[in-house]
Amino acid sequence: MARCAICDKGAHFGNNVSHSHRRSNKMWKSNIKSVRVKTTDGGNKRMYVCTSCLRSGKVERAAI
Ligand SMILES: [Zn+2]
Repeated sequence: MARCAICDKGAHFGNNVSHSHRRSNKMWKSNIKSVRVKTTDGGNKRMYVCTSCLRSGKVERAAI
């Protein structure tokens, strides 16, 4: 399962609870994208980054 390379955010787990209170397992997936980012030595690297890290500017995206 994909995990954010910056903040280590991944899928998390819990229960679906129906109206009659029957429970079943549920998994929530984080919004994680595979993006090309600039590295410190000037190259490009493909990483999995969550959209909250992308939006807050924690990585610099490489030009396509
Ligand atoms: Zn993240």
